[in-house]
Amino acid sequence: MKVILFGAPGSGKGTQAPLLSKHLNVATISLGDILREEVKRDSELGREVKGYMEKGALVPDGVVARVIEENVDKEGFILDGYPRNLAQAKNLEEVLQKKGQGIDAFIYFEVDEDTVINRLSKRIVCKKCGALYHLVNMPPAHEGVCDVCQGSLYQRKDDNPTVIKKRLEVFMQESRNVVDFYRDCGKLITVDARKEKDDVFAQIKEKLK
Ligand code: AMP
Repeated sequence: MKVILFGAPGSGKGTQAPLLSKHLNVATISLGDILREEVKRDSELGREVKGYMEKGALVPDGVVARVIEENVDKEGFILDGYPRNLAQAKNLEEVLQKKGQGIDAFIYFEVDEDTVINRLSKRIVCKKCGALYHLVNMPPAHEGVCDVCQGSLYQRKDDNPTVIKKRLEVFMQESRNVVDFYRDCGKLITVDARKEKDDVFAQIKEKLK
């Protein structure tokens, strides 16, 4: 199965991705995670994208298209963080069409701005496995330590008020066209992403049936 998770930063895509990945038995491709890893390795790609990521701007379409083409060659996947604009949506269609494939579902995480600002400003992430926590709503059992792999937890550089604002702005500018594109293709599924983790997961499972 090939599924896209789409929503504002902080809408819960990264929280739902591992649950859905287990449920559908397909891997998650998180573009943000792939890019952060490249920045950490200080690779050529990492150096190319670092500045955009720190500002909360989108990395140029041509650059992310290359990364996607290298990564979607799988039986099935959950795509988190791509596409983020109409050009990327069209590019993904082309890439999949070349392989005789297509998307099964586009899941739109609908959420309001106050909720995402609250989630992002208190979000902490595992350095080792990428598991996500919220300092108040979903804290780890032991402060600063990941429940899953005991890795250390940190706050992403771009989860600060100025960059959060910029990332939301970018999302607002680009999102409508992308949602319309998948609605027109008959692939759109919308979930109420203001709800708690288990509730959102139940909605997704129900709507994917
Ligand atoms: P995320 O982890 O999904 O919040 O993404 C973090 C950052 O990675 C974004 O703010 C962008 O700078 C970059 N990024 C992730 N996905 C994309 C994409 N589809 N197109 C361009 N840039 C992206």
